[in-house]
Amino acid sequence: MRRILWFRRDLRTDDNPLLSLEGEVLPIFIFDPAILSGLARDDRRVTYLFEALLRLKASLRLRGLDLILFHGRPAEVFSWLLENGAFDEVCASGDYDRYARERDRDVSHLLPFRYLNDTYIFEPDEVLKNDGSPYLVFTPFYNRAKALFTPIHMKEHLPASQQLLAWESGVIHVIADQHRRTTPISLESLGFSPAPLAPYLSPSEKLVRFSPLLSCYATERDFPALGATSHLSADLRFGMISIRAVLRWLAGEKKKGTDTEPFFRELVFREFYAMLLYHFPALTAENFRYLFAGVWNGEYAEAFYEGRTGVPLVDAGIRELLETGQMHNRVRMVCASFWTKNLLLPWQEGEKFFAAHLLDYDAASNILSWQWSAGTGVDPQPYFRIFNPYTQGKKFDYEGEYIRRWIPELSGVEAKILHDESKLSRLMLSGYPPPIVEHKSSSQRALEHFKEVLY
Ligand SMILES: Cc1cc2nc3c(=O)[nH]c(=O)nc-3n(C[C@H](O)[C@H](O)[C@H](O)COP(=O)(O)OP(=O)(O)OC[C@H]3O[C@@H](n4cnc5c(N)ncnc54)[C@H](O)[C@@H]3O)c2cc1C
Repeated sequence: MRRILWFRRDLRTDDNPLLSLEGEVLPIFIFDPAILSGLARDDRRVTYLFEALLRLKASLRLRGLDLILFHGRPAEVFSWLLENGAFDEVCASGDYDRYARERDRDVSHLLPFRYLNDTYIFEPDEVLKNDGSPYLVFTPFYNRAKALFTPIHMKEHLPASQQLLAWESGVIHVIADQHRRTTPISLESLGFSPAPLAPYLSPSEKLVRFSPLLSCYATERDFPALGATSHLSADLRFGMISIRAVLRWLAGEKKKGTDTEPFFRELVFREFYAMLLYHFPALTAENFRYLFAGVWNGEYAEAFYEGRTGVPLVDAGIRELLETGQMHNRVRMVCASFWTKNLLLPWQEGEKFFAAHLLDYDAASNILSWQWSAGTGVDPQPYFRIFNPYTQGKKFDYEGEYIRRWIPELSGVEAKILHDESKLSRLMLSGYPPPIVEHKSSSQRALEHFKEVLY
């Protein structure tokens, strides 16, 4: 058997089902211009991904294998591979967003395509209602997932004996309108330049750091200044650690007597969103409920994109995002609520902004979370639930530590003022704007708008 092992969201050698298939193999990764072309030259994710690929390549070499890098439309790369070699099948782990499924379908017309479940704990149609339909509400999905979960779901994939098929190295560009060429392996040869990244911490190092925090996860995870979460989302997004390895670590913590359920529940949230986007791909751009479309306002959007809305918790979150590619979950919720409700802007545009900056960007989690915040998604979250960003700040960043960390202009402002809209509005600060909207009246406007679009 001669197989192409197509690495996508599984950039690791440990516990990787691709490496547990015996025989002759060609491990590849494809830089897809459909994804790269919309990105800035110094996009942080490209540097992050590139470094992960170099680590993967080195790790494969230690096993006598290698990673061959391609640049081109996947269907064209596979056509070219088939012109230049004989292969029996391509193996890859599931990638379920709309573009990925169309891409894989095109490739499957050229070569038998074998899916291996790796990205998620469950297959997309494993956790369904008794009548075979998908769950729309998280809690019943979660209860079913817990009931179905067995040790098989965290079983490690051990490596098999594999022989590398000879192939040239470098980045092989297979672009339809250009001659095929091979360039050295560098970001520059893909049209990008390196972006600064935080010092690298491997997923296992993150788990060691997180272990003593796990017992407080339920009570501390919502406080952005504490950093009391795992910080594993980008690793899970790109598969730098297998979800099964996280579950085995969690099982070990449970044996020590720690309550692991709150963390497990979040991992299942990721499954829920992936399952929903798989079954309802139209949710990528369309509402599940309400005709809500938002009302475009360029000035509001610009202030939000720059972290200059005058609402401290929102601006702190956006500045964290712009500087690091990350944002705490609670703050993501507050920002998305502010965008869709207080600013009454279309959720799709806010989703795009997050997608352009998040290091852990994952279509399912991002889209469904934005739909949840807008109140247009499948969850029965009522549209009239609107986060008050000041109350949220008071509750989850009482001392204003997180806010001041990201907004130096507010370094001398007392916490009680940071969480008091009327006092903040009267404060004349040089360099920091007053709030662009008032919470009460903007919420009222959103409620009226939603009443008109109910169906
Ligand atoms: C508007 C909005 C957009 C979001 N966009 C993304 C995104 O693009 N990519 C992404 O991975 N997460 C997204 N999330 C979910 C969540 O904010 C991040 O997963 C979390 O902040 C990552 O930090 P962590 O790894 O320390 O999480 P932890 O709290 O340590 O959780 C462990 C893992 O569980 C998963 N998880 C946790 N919370 C959620 C959640 N609410 N929904 C889905 N999965 C969850 C993640 O894989 C995370 O790494 C979004 C949330 C909101 C409100």
